Parts: sequence; structure tokens; C-alpha cells
Amino acid sequence: MDPTDLERAHDRLLREIEAEALDTRSWTGRARFSDRVMEAMAKVPRHAFVLPEDTPYAYVNRPQCIGYGQTISQPYIVAVMTDLLDLKPTDRVLEIGAGSGYQAAVLAEVAGKVFTVEVVPELADAARERLRRLGYGSVSVRDGDGYQGWPEKAPFDAIIVTAAPRRIPEALVEQLGPGGRMVVPVGRVHETQMLYRCVRRPDGTLGKAGLLPVAFVPMVHRQ
Ligand code: SAH
Repeated sequence: MDPTDLERAHDRLLREIEAEALDTRSWTGRARFSDRVMEAMAKVPRHAFVLPEDTPYAYVNRPQCIGYGQTISQPYIVAVMTDLLDLKPTDRVLEIGAGSGYQAAVLAEVAGKVFTVEVVPELADAARERLRRLGYGSVSVRDGDGYQGWPEKAPFDAIIVTAAPRRIPEALVEQLGPGGRMVVPVGRVHETQMLYRCVRRPDGTLGKAGLLPVAFVPMVHRQ
């Protein structure tokens, strides 16, 4: 595909994300996403994260299959979840569900260090190799069960979960530092899930707000 076609599609996608941010403002409370988040969405080459045959659709505002029954999230969802984390350039972020590594790359553009856990070993290996090749040296990928988080690297300033658990995993709450933000879709598969934005209060309890109906693949338990 002609690189200028991809660039044009990428530009169009950014405008679509802005329009969708405006449309969903009554749910999310955010009519526009921060400049830093939109710059990250402009910078990360999504076509490097989809399957080669899906290159023409890399900048369509839809999820795409990445193999092993998994998907790379819709770009608007990546943008809104990143925005809801309110990241600072020095923040340490934990992601559960590395998938293609795309969300991790977007996080790396706006935060400090990114730690991402993936339960499918083949996807973890592919994401690690892809992120290395693209120069994302601040991202560490671990093959493991996200229900355990990544205790050796805790506490985190922010946690993002990109597969849906039935309820918020306790280990993740424990690994969130004081004032830390967590964005997580909660609910059963094939039923509407709710995207929650949580904040860990100084007393250790978790404040929660259900913001937006979403559809994610299930967060599975490792056999
Ligand atoms: N963030 C990804 C998309 C994630 S799709 C991207 O940008 O491409 C959800 C991912 O969560 C899948 O790759 C799935 O294998 C993974 N997953 C599901 N359950 C998990 C668990 N318990 N721990 C870690 N990863 C899990």
C-alpha cells in the first residue's frame, strides 16, 4: 500500500477520534483528549502492529484480529483509556493484556516506564520483538497471568487492563500506589461491560466510576 495512503488514513483516524471524544463526552466527562495523548496517537505506527494482510485497515477506527483469538483494540478506545489515566512523563504504568503491543507503545509515548503482561506466550514474544524493533526500549513485556499483576515492579502510578475481568482483581488494587489511577473494563463476555476509572485513595480504598459501555475479550485464568 502507498505510504501516503496510510498517512492520509492515519490523519483521518485522528479526526474521527476527536469527533468520537466529543460524542462520548457525557459518559467520559472529557470532550477532548490531551494534546500529549493525541500526539502519541499520531506518532505510533498502528500499521506495524496489525497482521500484514490487514495493513490497509490499520487506521480504520475498529478493532482487528491479531491471531490466537485476540484483537488489537479500537483506536478510539486506546485513546480514551490512555487519556483517563492522566499520565505524567515520569509515571510507571502496568498494562494487563499486551496483545500486539500497540497500547503499550502509546503509553510509552506519554509515560515513563511501561510494564505489560500477556497470558499468550506467542503474543508476548511477538509484542516484545516488535516493540524492540520499533525502538520502545522503555517497555518491558512479561509472559504471565495478569491476575497476579507484576509485584516485583510495583507500586505503579497507573494500571490499564485491556481484557475484561468479572471483577477488579485484588492484586492489581494492591499494586496501585497512593493516588494511582486504574482503567479497567468489567463484566461478562457477550454482555455489556462497563469501563471503570478507579483511583486509589490515600487510605488504600478504591474510588470507582463506571463511565462507558465497552466490549473486550475476557481476561482469562492461566491453566
Ligand atoms: N492491548 C492490546 C490488546 C489487548 S486484547 C493491544 O494493544 O494490542 C487482550 C489481551 O489480553 C489478549 O492478548 C489476551 O491474550 C490478553 N489476556 C487475557 N487474559 C489475560 C491475563 N489473565 N493476563 C494477561 N493477559 C491476558
